[in-house]
Amino acid sequence: MAFTRGLFCFQNRAGGEFCRTPRPVTTGGVTPNNKRDIMIYFVSALLKQIFASGKNYPWVRPSECPRCGHYRLWGHGYAQRYFRGFPSCLYLKCYRCPACNCVLTLRPDSHFSRIRTSREMIRNHIEHRQTVGYWPRSDLLRSNLRYWWNNLTRRTLAFLTNSWCDGFLAAFDQLASLGKTPVCRLR
Ligand SMILES: [Zn+2]
Repeated sequence: MAFTRGLFCFQNRAGGEFCRTPRPVTTGGVTPNNKRDIMIYFVSALLKQIFASGKNYPWVRPSECPRCGHYRLWGHGYAQRYFRGFPSCLYLKCYRCPACNCVLTLRPDSHFSRIRTSREMIRNHIEHRQTVGYWPRSDLLRSNLRYWWNNLTRRTLAFLTNSWCDGFLAAFDQLASLGKTPVCRLR
């Protein structure tokens, strides 16, 4: 599937699995100002290694601010995030841009923003639902699966229009390749 690598996005809502950690609300937009915006910056990283290493995981600092292009980012501590399959939180590295003041949280691109289940696992469930017509046996809550499916159908209509005729699995891949979370609620 087409994962979104190296892309970033502004986020301000949860996408199906509701995280208990407090989340900042951002305004989005690209105009530099003094307001501290939060950006999710997707990187290639393995959750198991992050979990095993804790705060010693060797995160790679982005070469420049993806928001304003400033050449240097400062370390800004860690964000605690929870993922399916791990008994406790993982520490995700944060950086702050001294020019535009935005804060980046680096996040493994195996997972959409704010969703604890991996992209691959969600995709496999949607593939089964589309090809067989019902959900597979799974540890995932049916309510979550239905929520994701309903959001995917709404997002397909909204972004790919009702002329889309390649099915919801292809829509999932297409939306993901556009840097969107295919299964989060349509705002
Ligand atoms: Zn910046």
